[in-house]
Amino acid sequence: MVLIALTYKKLVDRDFKVLAVIEREMSRYEYVPVEVIERRVRMPSTHVAMVLQKLNSLKLVRRRIGEYVGYRLTYLGLDMLALRSLVERGLLSALGDKLGVGKESDVYSGLTPAGERVIVKFHRVGRTSFQRVVRVRHYAASKPYSSWFELAKVAGQREFRVLEELYKVGALVPKPIGYSRHVVVTEYIEGVELYLYENPVNPESMLYKILETLRKAYLDVGVVHGDLSEYNVLVAIVDEEELPYIIDWPQYVEREHPAAEQLLRRDVEYITRFFRKKYRVQVDAEKALRYIRGEAEELL
Ligand code: ATP
Ligand code: MN
Repeated sequence: MVLIALTYKKLVDRDFKVLAVIEREMSRYEYVPVEVIERRVRMPSTHVAMVLQKLNSLKLVRRRIGEYVGYRLTYLGLDMLALRSLVERGLLSALGDKLGVGKESDVYSGLTPAGERVIVKFHRVGRTSFQRVVRVRHYAASKPYSSWFELAKVAGQREFRVLEELYKVGALVPKPIGYSRHVVVTEYIEGVELYLYENPVNPESMLYKILETLRKAYLDVGVVHGDLSEYNVLVAIVDEEELPYIIDWPQYVEREHPAAEQLLRRDVEYITRFFRKKYRVQVDAEKALRYIRGEAEELL
């Protein structure tokens, strides 16, 4: 079993209670003083000390001994709170293998109580440098968020909400199931990343479907993906049809954003070039852009 799941199983109610108090108070303290934790959890201080010792040895909190003794959560600690909420709401019952480590996320497989296979994506903002965060996450630059956790939570909420809207309008995206904090649960797509997908039956139709999803995103939802590539497309075969699902949406920008046009153009030029080079499918990027923006009803 993976570390996150193993750690989760070691926790009991009062551990979660202390973690939740530290999380809440982190908006006011860099390290939450022990006295504040004691006051908020309403447990005898000897119990609090035992819990904090346990959380510290499981690396769910970090201790600082300076002018006062204080604690803050680690990402693993935040993971526990998110998992707890997802489990209690009946959205998740098990965590499986790690499928990937991205620049800003860890992706696991999971199971719902009904036995459906799902994807559990943990956003990890701040693992790389702050400069990168500001560059990549447009929404970060304009908001005075003080901690990485807040940004990771924003990423989780953004990704879940935009998936809900995209899914509603019939775009080919994984069905969103739920989220808590920085963790998003979606349908598991039984598929292969486009960059690994050899010998497609009908690459032309796959590209059309990708462009159709971009059009729905742009016209019906009002967003641009902004990071489209052969790594963010999963090809599933359903009833002998190749369905290209577009994943990884947290960096989307709204149509009205000053960078939207440039990002849409980048996405479209990138994916049409990929299909031209790899599969010899010729679709003019300008025509595709007009189709996506609704200036033309057909692609050809
Ligand atoms: P970032 O761009 O922040 O680094 P990321 O690339 O790590 O994010 P995703 O692209 O969402 O995050 O997912 C990483 C990998 O996990 C994908 O390439 C894919 O292999 C797998 N994956 C993600 N979502 C799904 C899904 N719904 N079904 C099946 N596999 C998925
Ligand atoms: Mn990705």
